Amino acid sequence: MKWEFAYDSPKAIAQLLGERDFAMTKKFGQNFLLTTSIREKIVSLLSLTAGSRVLEIGPGIGSITTLLLEQEVDLTVFEIDHGFCDILREEAFGSHPNFTLVEGDALKTLFPHLKRVGTVDRICGNLPYNVGTILVARLLESDHRPPLMVFTLQKEVADRLAARERSKEWSAISLLAQADYDITTAATIPPSAFYPPPKVESSIVLFTLREESRVPPHLRESFSIIRGDLFAQRRKTILNNVRSGKSGALLGKEGVAALFAESGVEENKRAEALGWDEFLALSAALYTVRANRSGDTQRDR
Ligand code: SAM
Repeated sequence: MKWEFAYDSPKAIAQLLGERDFAMTKKFGQNFLLTTSIREKIVSLLSLTAGSRVLEIGPGIGSITTLLLEQEVDLTVFEIDHGFCDILREEAFGSHPNFTLVEGDALKTLFPHLKRVGTVDRICGNLPYNVGTILVARLLESDHRPPLMVFTLQKEVADRLAARERSKEWSAISLLAQADYDITTAATIPPSAFYPPPKVESSIVLFTLREESRVPPHLRESFSIIRGDLFAQRRKTILNNVRSGKSGALLGKEGVAALFAESGVEENKRAEALGWDEFLALSAALYTVRANRSGDTQRDR
């Protein structure tokens, strides 16, 4: 029998949770998305076809889940709250042939799952505020790159993910996300669209896999080091951040001088003033200087 539930009604949600003696926990960033048109937008952005392999993080009691299953996708959801898991299993979708529930912390369960099944077609979720950024960052750092991902995140995080180079929001996570994905903010969602309403605005973020990564495969490690070092302290110059960062530890004083000479990037700038070309030039220079130094070390032996 199809699960019918008034997901747009705070009263119905409160009643369901009340009957089971549940309370919403701030700890798990639990804010249910009420507005039907917004939930539909998230699903339509995913451009699903029947049989698509889809993962949803943090389904709650299933307000987006139910719309995903209507699309006849093969769905696996990851939920930490055991009470919500009982509702999903017992009342809502337990008998649905296309539905799999993974109970527990997605930060621990998602990556072993991806390792087992391989990269999926889509990943989505109205992510909890407390783990949203870390989960997205870990996904982007992993080798799993689904062609499309759609997440609802705190607006401030969304703005950083989608930031244009050299803008105020331009940061390490902008570089991480935009290396492999084109990022767009598809909508801003007011607190009133949630129950209970959070304190801040949210945004729906669409990640579309680029045909070609901005970072060549051999430069990925160097790019990751440079990205982390340069934004370590925004007020510092990139020279000082490099000196105190991992690249400085790898290269030493002379190596740092060689890095800037090789890259042609001005060392007294701040990271937020650099564009893609400069980050890539520094990554390429780090790669080259390290390779030269390891060649020197081998010759010295
Ligand atoms: N998808 C539902 C909706 O849109 O109405 C609920 C979204 S609510 C913002 C976030 C959901 O993620 C909650 O159900 C919460 O219990 C769950 N959650 C929080 N931390 C989690 C984690 N580490 N792993 C898996 N689920 C988590």
